[in-house]
Amino acid sequence: MNLQKMLINGEWVHAQSEETRDIINPYNQEVIATAVEGNEQDTRAAIQAAREAFDDGIWSALPANERGEYVYQIGLLIRRDLQELAELETWDTGKTLQESKEDMDDIANVFLYFGGLADKDGGDKIPSPMPDSESKVVREPVGVCGQITPWNYPLLQASWKIAPALAAGNTIIMKPSEITPLTTVKVFELIEEAGIPEGVANLVLGAGATAGAELSENRDIDLISFTGGIETGKTIMQAASHNVKKIALELGGKNPNIVFADADFTTAVDQALNAVFFHAGQVCSAGARLLVEESIHDEFVNALTERTKRIKLGNGFDDDTQSGPLISSEHRDKVEKYVDIGKQEGATLVTGGKRPDDPELQDGFFYLPTIFTNCTSDMRIVQEEVFGPVLTVETFQSQEDAIKLANDTIYGLAGAVWTQDVAKAEFVAERLRLGTVWINDFHPYFAQAPWGGYKQSGIGRELGREGMEEYTEVKHIYRNKKPEPFYWFK
Ligand code: NAD
Repeated sequence: MNLQKMLINGEWVHAQSEETRDIINPYNQEVIATAVEGNEQDTRAAIQAAREAFDDGIWSALPANERGEYVYQIGLLIRRDLQELAELETWDTGKTLQESKEDMDDIANVFLYFGGLADKDGGDKIPSPMPDSESKVVREPVGVCGQITPWNYPLLQASWKIAPALAAGNTIIMKPSEITPLTTVKVFELIEEAGIPEGVANLVLGAGATAGAELSENRDIDLISFTGGIETGKTIMQAASHNVKKIALELGGKNPNIVFADADFTTAVDQALNAVFFHAGQVCSAGARLLVEESIHDEFVNALTERTKRIKLGNGFDDDTQSGPLISSEHRDKVEKYVDIGKQEGATLVTGGKRPDDPELQDGFFYLPTIFTNCTSDMRIVQEEVFGPVLTVETFQSQEDAIKLANDTIYGLAGAVWTQDVAKAEFVAERLRLGTVWINDFHPYFAQAPWGGYKQSGIGRELGREGMEEYTEVKHIYRNKKPEPFYWFK
């Protein structure tokens, strides 16, 4: 594969330092590409390009419907190249090709949605309380936006940022995770093909501590949007305070999946598996905390364990693979550390808890889907984000118990309630301190609905109208229709 370069001011460039980084396939550790390794210097060049493009108004001053057409066009190009993009994502992350294709379909829809939304908010006239006057509220782009994404959904997370920012008239500098840049590079080729003016959309490749830190610190950046881990989020928040940047943070989760005894048993078991083991649990909204009503606990855990043991790990390109590897050796070490902690804390290991024995999986970063029972909410394994295929099971006896347990972490991203009693489902859903609650389902998200976290899961929202509003400033324009002296000062 070609050298992966950066797009700065309309030019595909090497890093000024000429450093590079090997990109690894987590299924077998083969080098699948080499990416240029940008640093602070390259990032500053990209910021300058984005600043000039914004100040020139070549993008922000375009009629909103024209900007929308460009963004929509990117969505169509993604659909055209869906297979290639999906394959790149599977090479880079190890996730199954089927999952990558579904991601790409969602990503195209994100661009189509925000392209369509670009000209839908023309501002509102508001009733002015002053005589002979007119008041209106308009939305304008924030300016130059730095955008930083993680490795678990590389292009999906990027699309949630790129599409609304461009549709709203901002200029951007995107920095994908240094370990999974491939699909983001490809989409910047499509952005170029769509004809977005030079300097409006810039791509920097490189590490968080260098390129990422420059984006969060630099005073020419007006807004920093970050998706990633909570500790990185805190660092970025501090750095952003230098020039009081606007910040949007999508951080971690430790998401409850609440199953009442009257839930449809087979569906709840099946979906509990999807909730936690999808993409080897490397999902911010993974249902990693199963809260199950005590009366069905044993039956539920038995059924779940039996299904869990059958999950087929393997190469994302094989049709019968149901789950791929973890992203890296370091990340697998972290998951293993948490499993050890769970054992030490007294949780009961029911299945998994080790690497697979299958000789074909020894080159990849695989880890068996793991279930712990007898968990309590004071355990670290219950409180902290493992971001791997590890499920903890707790029990409850009443709605109030379930709500209390569900809300008992620092996170508040997403969660689900399973019951056939609609009134009970609504009662619980209203009391969960979460940005998204699914009733009798797990994981659906789409461009039309806002996504984001309560509590320490983040600040702000992506997707939906709210996701577009993040990238706008609100201005009140007041016009006196009969100006005359006031004579306060005689
Ligand atoms: P991470 O925080 O290690 O890295 C994310 C990005 O931040 C990368 O691009 C990295 O290079 C950059 N970065 C690292 N240090 C930085 C610094 N000091 N300054 C600026 N940038 C820096 O996260 P990760 O391991 O890539 O991703 C996993 C995390 O992402 C999990 O915690 C997960 O919950 C979270 N996540 C959240 C959502 C959501 O929607 N809330 C979605 C996906 C992932």
